[in-house]
Parts: sequence; structure tokens; C-alpha cells
Amino acid sequence: MKTERLTKKELAKAVNWIKDGEVVAFPTETVYGLGADATNEEAVQKIFQAKGRPADNPLIIHVASVEQAEQYVTCFPEEAKRVVSNFWPGACTLVLNKKGDIASSVTADLNTIAIRMPNHPLALELIEQAGVPLAAPSANSSGKPSPTTADHVYKDLNGKIRGIIDGGATGVGLESTVLDMTDPKKPTILRPGGVTSEQLETVLGKVYHEKTSDSELFAPKSPGMKYRHYSPDKPVYILPENLEQAEKLIGALEDKKECVGLLVSEDTFESLGSLSSNHFLLGRKGYPEEAANRLYEGLRKLDESDATVILAEAYDKTGIGRAYMNRLEKAAEWLK
Ligand code: AMP
Ligand code: MG
Repeated sequence: MKTERLTKKELAKAVNWIKDGEVVAFPTETVYGLGADATNEEAVQKIFQAKGRPADNPLIIHVASVEQAEQYVTCFPEEAKRVVSNFWPGACTLVLNKKGDIASSVTADLNTIAIRMPNHPLALELIEQAGVPLAAPSANSSGKPSPTTADHVYKDLNGKIRGIIDGGATGVGLESTVLDMTDPKKPTILRPGGVTSEQLETVLGKVYHEKTSDSELFAPKSPGMKYRHYSPDKPVYILPENLEQAEKLIGALEDKKECVGLLVSEDTFESLGSLSSNHFLLGRKGYPEEAANRLYEGLRKLDESDATVILAEAYDKTGIGRAYMNRLEKAAEWLK
């Protein structure tokens, strides 16, 4: 199949493809999504095929309004309405009890459904004009870093999907927060993301965090949590925060003739930079939103470089730093 790249002026073509049961990648404020009509089982199957995504990992449905979301949940509790009125459109996905006409593979046999309204004009226009909610995971090959540009999507999925709407680079750079509100008195973050727990606590009071596990035997509430994720082909390690120790470990790798690629802040690069010719800068130290925005691009760039091993900087797990570290720890191990 030829994958056509569209400008925003050609959106009508994408709308027709969605109506015809094809899959189309589109920009959102978090990462590029791979969309199909969430009410059409055959169309949704094409998403799993194109990505090589395990069937037990359910998809988020994307809506263009709160009213559209209400059609697919048994109840929209008052607490969820508060989240929506503060953070929609935006990078917060709600998990609620499902109802209505949604393809069964979207929810992977769960009684719940994950829904969000993206904060991107092209995404909203596409959903509105298609007239159906779009099931849409990130538009990468399963396991690889999520795409933050149309080029990333093209590299992963060329020949496997009908088209890509190019809307430029995404803003947040990491996926949405997945918030389980099936028990509205115990809102629980299943995956940290673009809307932080600190922000959610301003409207909900205490917010809980689901523990993650790598075990295939573990049956987590958010099935996506059990898979290794966001990972380039080359080995990735997280640098210890102590720079002297980091320098020593980098030296040891170079003694073993490894070619080190650094994914670090500008400040850390000044301290360590001379050690490596391959690097990608994450922005200023202490600005995790800059690192979140550049993480996936950096992992992809260094994967294509001469580096044989990628070393990434750790950030504090506060604010969006928590989401950054969640993705990094799924892609990497700590360097020891
Ligand atoms: P992605 O589409 O790659 O951004 O991943 C979507 C995330 O939402 C995965 O971690 C899924 O496991 C999670 N998810 C989707 N639907 C549900 C649901 N009904 N209940 C819990 N988690 C969900
Ligand atoms: Mg994904």
C-alpha cells in the first residue's frame, strides 16, 4: 500500500479514508496518533496489524466533545466532569465504564473504556468531520519510541497505512496521562503523562498511582504497562546523577570500544560533552517539559547515529518529570 502524506489543506481526503475503514496517522498535542473508526471492527484491526501491537493492549478513543464522550460511558461522575472542564481538550485520558457501539478489540474485552479529547485543531477537525470517535494509539511500530513528527511516522509505518496528516512537531512530546475514574473517590493514574498529578490534585484532592510491573504474569489495570516500550534498537542506559560516577562509567564503556551517544541537558553536556561526539540535547537542566518534548526525537536520532550505546540523563520525578522518567525507565536500565 502506498502511504500518502497530506498537508492540513488535504484533510478531506483523510476524512474519507476514515469513513472507508482505513487507518490514518494524525497529529495531536502529545504524539502522532494512528486513527481508525472506533465503531468499525475491521478498521480497528488494521491499527493492530500496522503497529504489530499485542491484541490485549487496548486503545484510547479520541472524541471532539464531552457530549460525544458521554455516548460511550455508563456514567460520567461529577469528579470526572471536573477533570474534563479543567483539562479537556488536553493530555488527560479518562478510564470509565463503557457502553455503546464500540468495536470490541478497542477495549480488549475490558468493561472499561479510555477516552480523551485531544488539544489539536487538526485532530479535532478530523474527528468531527468523520462523525465517529477515533481509536488511536501512538503511530509508531509497537515497542519503538512514539513519533513526534510526521517523518517519524513515515519511517515506521510507510507502506502499512493509508496516509499521514503532517501537522509539524507535536508540543508535549509524551503521551497522555491515563487516569482511572471507575471509582471516582479513588482517582488513580495508570500512566503518568502530559497532565501532571500535581495539576490533577488541584481539582480532585488526593490522586493515587498504580504500581507498574514488568511481569507478563501480572494482570495490570492498564494492560499496556506490562510491555517493554518506547525503546530504540540500541541499548539505552540511564546515567547516575553523580557526574563523577557518570564520567567514570562512560570511560569504562569507551575502554571497551563502545561509542557513547549522550542524551543529556545542555548543563550536563558541558560537564561531560567532551567525552562524546554523538549527542542530542534535552534542553536546560531543571526544565523537564523541554526534556519530555525532546526525549523520543533524541532516542530516534541517536539510534540512527554511530553510537553503539545510548546514555540518557535522569530528571526528578516531579511534574512532567514523572512521565519522562516513566518512559525512560521502560526503555532503559540504570547504568552501574
Ligand atoms: P497508547 O495508545 O500506546 O498511547 O497506549 C494507551 C494506554 O492506555 C495503554 O497503556 C493502555 O493499556 C491504556 N488503556 C487503554 N484502554 C484502557 C482501559 N480500558 N483501561 C485501562 N487502560 C487502558
Ligand atoms: Mg504507544
